[in-house]
Amino acid sequence: MKKTVIIGGVAGGASCAARLRRLDEDAQILILERGEYISYANCGLPYHVGDVIKSRDALLLQTPEAMRKKYGVDVRVKNEVTSIDRENKKITVRKLETGESYEESYDTLVISTGSSPVRPPIKGIESSRIQTLWTVPDTDRIRGLIKEKGIKTAAVIGGGFIGLEMAENLRHAGLRVSLIEMQDQVLAPIDFEMAQLLHENIVQNQVSLYLGDGVSSFADENDSVSITLKKWKGLTSRTGDSFDWRTS
Ligand SMILES: Cc1cc2nc3c(=O)[nH]c(=O)nc-3n(C[C@H](O)[C@H](O)[C@H](O)COP(=O)(O)OP(=O)(O)OC[C@H]3O[C@@H](n4cnc5c(N)ncnc54)[C@H](O)[C@@H]3O)c2cc1C
Repeated sequence: MKKTVIIGGVAGGASCAARLRRLDEDAQILILERGEYISYANCGLPYHVGDVIKSRDALLLQTPEAMRKKYGVDVRVKNEVTSIDRENKKITVRKLETGESYEESYDTLVISTGSSPVRPPIKGIESSRIQTLWTVPDTDRIRGLIKEKGIKTAAVIGGGFIGLEMAENLRHAGLRVSLIEMQDQVLAPIDFEMAQLLHENIVQNQVSLYLGDGVSSFADENDSVSITLKKWKGLTSRTGDSFDWRTS
């Protein structure tokens, strides 16, 4: 019986396991995921922040138990692969709950570890108030900040797809939002003319839009982070203060 080990259990890893099972009923399939969840809807995470998707469970498309039952796949969450020995077709896995390590052999290894959010080397970026959104726990953390800590303002750095979704959903969550984008338009893949419609819509939705300017530094203050923009020197602005829409 052929044994396939898949590292990473979200979109790539979980669909690979399901497809393999359809191709071979007898194959031994093992998913190793270092996080707590598998097969969740990353696309829905911003919308759960904004409560547009109300139920957290709606984000979780498969559980390890369901995957085991439906597809006969052995799923081990909180298990991180720490090394690969290609010559001997073995991997080393660390159980994150106990710190204990063990080895697994494989015939085929699938690496589906995805990517991770980039935190550019900007002064002050290590502040605990600066969050990235990749996983379900990231979503829980951001919702927690809004609901439990009563955060009222936010700045989103970057006007790509996820940045726009976050700006929209932070507004849904009732925050005052600023969106800062280094280029002279949001959504780089679309034409400049088309982006103007979006800019208009963003401003109509009371998001303060900063175009053509990047962040030069962040600084933690008592209960907020101040952001200094590169071109707009002299301005040190608290996140969420009501700025005018400006292009440069
Ligand atoms: C907020 C957000 C919104 C998105 N919206 C959309 C959208 O609307 N439309 C769209 O098409 N795409 C969207 N995407 C992108 C889409 O979610 C990704 O392309 C997709 O999740 C990639 O799947 P993946 O399995 O390759 O990687 P990931 O989803 O990153 O999963 C990789 C997994 O591997 C695990 N892992 C990493 N290293 C190890 C290790 N050593 N041992 C064990 N496990 C490990 C990680 O913990 C992680 O869970 C969005 C992404 C985000 C973050």
